[in-house]
Amino acid sequence: MPFVDAEAVSKREYDVIVVGSGAGGGQTAYTLTMEGARVLVLEAGRKYDPTTETAMFQTPDMAPLRGTDTPEKPFGFYDATVDGGWQVPGEPYTQASKDKSQRFEWWRARMLGGRTNHWGRISLRNGPYDFKPRSRDGLGFDWPIAYEDMAPYYDKVEMLVGIYGSNEGLENTPNSPDGCLLPPPKPIVSDLLVQKHSAKLGFPTIACHRAVLTAPLDWKNTPAKLHPGNTAAQEIIARDMRRRSPCLWATPCGNGCSTRSNYQSTTVHLPPALETGKLDIVTDAMVAEVMLAKDGRASGVRFIDRHSGKSMQATARVVVLAASACETVRILLNSKSAQFPQGLANSSGKVGKYLMDTVGADLQGQIPLLENLPPHNEEGASGLHMYVPWYGYQAQKAGKLGFARGYHIEFIGGRRMPQYYTTEGLEWITGGSYGAKLKEDARRYYGSMIGFAGRGEMIPNEHSYCEIDPQVNDKWGIPVLRFHWKWSEHETRQAAHMQKTFAELIESMGGRVRTPPEKDGAKAIARGGSIIHELGGALMGEDPQRSVLNKWCQAWDVKNLFLADGSPFPSNADKNPTLTIMANAWRVADHILDRMRRKEL
Ligand SMILES: Cc1cc2nc3c(=O)[nH]c(=O)nc-3n(C[C@H](O)[C@H](O)[C@H](O)COP(=O)(O)OP(=O)(O)OC[C@H]3O[C@@H](n4cnc5c(N)ncnc54)[C@H](O)[C@@H]3O)c2cc1C
Ligand code: SF4
Repeated sequence: MPFVDAEAVSKREYDVIVVGSGAGGGQTAYTLTMEGARVLVLEAGRKYDPTTETAMFQTPDMAPLRGTDTPEKPFGFYDATVDGGWQVPGEPYTQASKDKSQRFEWWRARMLGGRTNHWGRISLRNGPYDFKPRSRDGLGFDWPIAYEDMAPYYDKVEMLVGIYGSNEGLENTPNSPDGCLLPPPKPIVSDLLVQKHSAKLGFPTIACHRAVLTAPLDWKNTPAKLHPGNTAAQEIIARDMRRRSPCLWATPCGNGCSTRSNYQSTTVHLPPALETGKLDIVTDAMVAEVMLAKDGRASGVRFIDRHSGKSMQATARVVVLAASACETVRILLNSKSAQFPQGLANSSGKVGKYLMDTVGADLQGQIPLLENLPPHNEEGASGLHMYVPWYGYQAQKAGKLGFARGYHIEFIGGRRMPQYYTTEGLEWITGGSYGAKLKEDARRYYGSMIGFAGRGEMIPNEHSYCEIDPQVNDKWGIPVLRFHWKWSEHETRQAAHMQKTFAELIESMGGRVRTPPEKDGAKAIARGGSIIHELGGALMGEDPQRSVLNKWCQAWDVKNLFLADGSPFPSNADKNPTLTIMANAWRVADHILDRMRRKEL
């Protein structure tokens, strides 16, 4: 069972259809097939193989416009996203308001593996508080599960995918058991400087957790922990782990990794799943709706073959939607029937509600101490080596901060591969220079800049949601989403706090800020959706009247329909969400397997 044509699927029988092949879909397909289920993955994007297609060793000077970003390639010429971005031609989305602050920017990657081909690979566990936020401060929603329910799945995902990091025993920043994490890369000079000065200001700087292999995976011991009692699965994954090479410390992860040294669904989840012989993948298959049988169960899905434009169907015992949070919502809302006139699984009226992104604000600084360093390579693991976890839990509990939830700090400095913009805009320091002086300035200041970015928790609110636009269809005739968005004061105050903190850090390092810290959080905060952590829209909960899914991410209304991306998340902790999406998808897939074995599905 491999990549197949859309026509072929109507003749085959499947246990499970998985819609989408990114973090959620890839993990679901992996877990199900490794344990013997026959799975069909339907993916709207094209086939993509990073091992042959990745422009890994090309340098910016070899690309048009020196590889800089363009509207078609917003993250630069070599970015791994081959079809997608803030806009996808022929597949629009709309905004309910003309007010820019009420827009939701939606990033989509129409390709096998979705956004996992070029994500930042920051992989932080949610902590115990993050599953019970409402119990702590009365805002938002608690998850119907606790950290202890997710922890074994975090362990498994970390061991399978390969995550570097360290255990520090900090509040709400969980340790991983021995054997889960790979060693973190060495800090670079600017990391050490931030660490020294954050300690002076009273907060820690520690190793970041990222999905990059800093060492070979433990293929001898890990397979038995991932698939106890299943020797066939153990052999497949042991073989596959040996084929993944540790990081070369040289090339930008965002372009994809042909040596399979970081996590992409296309290099980590799908190859072993295909090797089981249990997985069929149809690419260019745009799912439009879930079909409902007379008995109220999902019978399968209807999709558009993007090559022929034909409407096709596939059937299975179970349907799992993992098309990314908003797209999953769109499929549900477009699946209308006499039984569900407001969209499938929507008897609560909550499908599309409580959409969330991450709070973002940033500030750049220049640090004289880092000027004129001797030439050296700080490429490292092509992403964060260190970060600042949220440290203000006690201050918040004591009501001292004026906002309810925390943020972590990501920062990037150092002498990285020069880009066309590396020494752009130096006038704010030099006052302007030309000729030999410009070259001298460029050398002097290269590597002395540091950028800080806050990534904070948003509390779900009634004003941030998506619905079907009654007037606009995409080029396949499928109705599109319309977004509503509003930050609350908890988020805007948090963004102002980020600005103040970053300025203090930069000044403590003897540096200067590029722009004055913004005191007005509403001006400092990044637009909704722009941090690309879309979550919510089909919340799991304990009450069928107030949630869409039960704790197994199974629709309250449709027994054999499950969601396995970020749409079930009741909250969006400051921790970047993808590790939790994968851990939750594994948990959900285990439950599906269990119920299928008991013939309950
Ligand atoms: C530049 C960037 C940096 C990021 N950095 C980080 C980070 O450091 N850490 C982190 O945790 N997260 C990060 N993210 C977010 C991360 O990529 C997402 O959280 C994650 O990929 C979500 O997984 P998913 O499976 O829900 O969606 P995706 O990975 O987007 O996969 C969804 C798939 O479903 C397919 N699909 C959509 N609609 C349909 C349809 N109708 N029919 C069939 N298939 C469909 C899509 O084509 C896609 O392949 C980043 C994202 C970007 C873009
Ligand atoms: S830095 Fe390492 S993990 Fe990232 S693309 Fe390069 S080799 Fe792969």
